[in-house]
Amino acid sequence: MKFTDLGLCPELLAGIEKLGFETPTPVQAEVIPFLLENDNDVVALAQTGTGKTAAFGLPILEQLNTDSRIPQALILCPTRELCMQIARDLESYASAMRGVNVLAVYGGSDIRQQLDALSRGVQIVVATPGRMLDIIRRKRVNFSAIDRVILDEADEMLNMGFEEDIKAILSDVPDSAQTLLFSATMPKEVARIAKNYMTDAHEITCGSRNVGTENVTHQYYVVHAKDRYRALRRIVDAYPRMYGIVFCRTRIETQQVADNLRKDGYNAEPLHGDLTQQQRDSVMKKFREHHVQVLVATDVAARGLDVNDLTHVINYNLPDELASYTHRSGRTGRAGKEGISVAIIHMREHHKINRIQKALGRTFTQCMVPTGEEIARIRLMAMAERVRDWDGGPGLIDNYLEELNTMLADVSKEEIIKRFASIDLHRLLLFYRDAPDLNAQASERQGASREPNRYADGPRPSSREKRETHEPRKMTTGMVELCMNVGKLNGMTPKKLMAMVNVADRDSSVDIGRINIVKMQSYFEVSRPEAQSVIDSFSKSHVDCEGRQVSVAMAGNSRPRPEGGARPPKRKNPQSTGQRPYQEQSRDDRPFDRDQDGPRKGGRGQGGPKKRH
Ligand code: AMP
Repeated sequence: MKFTDLGLCPELLAGIEKLGFETPTPVQAEVIPFLLENDNDVVALAQTGTGKTAAFGLPILEQLNTDSRIPQALILCPTRELCMQIARDLESYASAMRGVNVLAVYGGSDIRQQLDALSRGVQIVVATPGRMLDIIRRKRVNFSAIDRVILDEADEMLNMGFEEDIKAILSDVPDSAQTLLFSATMPKEVARIAKNYMTDAHEITCGSRNVGTENVTHQYYVVHAKDRYRALRRIVDAYPRMYGIVFCRTRIETQQVADNLRKDGYNAEPLHGDLTQQQRDSVMKKFREHHVQVLVATDVAARGLDVNDLTHVINYNLPDELASYTHRSGRTGRAGKEGISVAIIHMREHHKINRIQKALGRTFTQCMVPTGEEIARIRLMAMAERVRDWDGGPGLIDNYLEELNTMLADVSKEEIIKRFASIDLHRLLLFYRDAPDLNAQASERQGASREPNRYADGPRPSSREKRETHEPRKMTTGMVELCMNVGKLNGMTPKKLMAMVNVADRDSSVDIGRINIVKMQSYFEVSRPEAQSVIDSFSKSHVDCEGRQVSVAMAGNSRPRPEGGARPPKRKNPQSTGQRPYQEQSRDDRPFDRDQDGPRKGGRGQGGPKKRH
């Protein structure tokens, strides 16, 4: 099937030809003709990156009344980034059309400009739910002519707590509007929205339910938890052309892993909710433009990052929810490209892999963490390949060749190869010389001594780092140790730390014991009963330290016991450290404060196909 077979006008065909789209993707081939012919609601199960935007965007543009400047289509999506992306995409499809006005409205930016643009008149509104509801409540938008509502990435919107906002918005659009719901997964909550707010929905499934993209290969590596970071380094080293996202569970872990990668010489950046919107935008831009090779991110912060050519997605920890794994892995293998989804697991997590395999109906391959020698060989061969295939460029080096030849006249070809390779890879070869086997089974087999698991689930510091690192030690009686995500490099001092703790926890004056400030973290003791209140006070209030939002969690070795109680149960996963995974889902990734509102009343009107312009 070709785009010309879909019944689109020449202007739209010209627009998509300019973008280089030749054949419709499966979701486009199904959805576009359906929307052009029918008025039924649609529920489409489609992964991210399958071409959904054009699937709903082209019919909207095809049937738009460009003579009117009243909103006719409303597209709701979970994040500001996705919102801007969809608006940009629609504008580029419509590049050869006249009189099309698309407006993106999202939280975290000046509402006045958005209100002004609305009053000038637009036909398509792309919005995040919180900001849209704000505008509706200010009565600054007229939705009486809306005849299509798109809920894009519905599962993500519900995950982020937008259900009530969506219901309130749906109650403001005419009952006769056609509603389209796109979702990568179909959890109960999404099915409920479909049931309550859609009529006779036509179901389209592109790929089966909850199935990861076909083009993704799923791999896993089994290591001891203490070796997680070292395994990550080796995986990155073994793929010299990697362009990928490493997913972590918490902001603190994300920052630590990114900091360690950077310290170890990798081109990596963190992306999480502690960064300001500006910092996040800048990181995403650098990553999109390939100026950053490895992005270390939390699930929430990475939402809406639209990148098509990721070679790898790495699960530094497996997520708890299957849907999160599907979303993570669906970020690679997009737009017809191949991708690899990697999970680094420890021995007791095999069952999690089995569960995901079963649910996705895909086989996961267990891979061995490459040895130092293998990595050295891979990197050498990659370099040799680059040299062999280098086409010489436009002769920029020619002017210097004679001088170079003279200088190296007495060195043999073999020696030159050896020296060039060594110069480039000396540090790597040195680092991996005598490096141990990190595969969990291997160390079991070799009877390797099991070190105490001090750095479980966190990057293991190198010996150089250890000097700069906080060593777990004996606690003062009655005290527990907390860890703050800022340290010396953020200008932290004991005085500042005490002030921050007492400012954050206004309800009480906190007694602080020993303080240890290292490069990127600060450790401090508080009395056991006060620990949780201090942690909570930082998560509730916005305390800033040189541009970073400060957060506090239990330090690894000092979980409080219930007063007079027994030891806490053995730790199963990093969640139980007191660092709440996905904690950034709470506030600052969400664009707008939400209130409740009643659901949309009644179903929408029936009737034959509506007349569209
Ligand atoms: P989406 O799922 O809409 O975010 O699209 C994922 C990516 O695929 C985007 O970068 C689109 O530009 C690209 N894309 C969408 N449709 C096509 C097509 N028919 N042919 C080639 N690329 C496409």
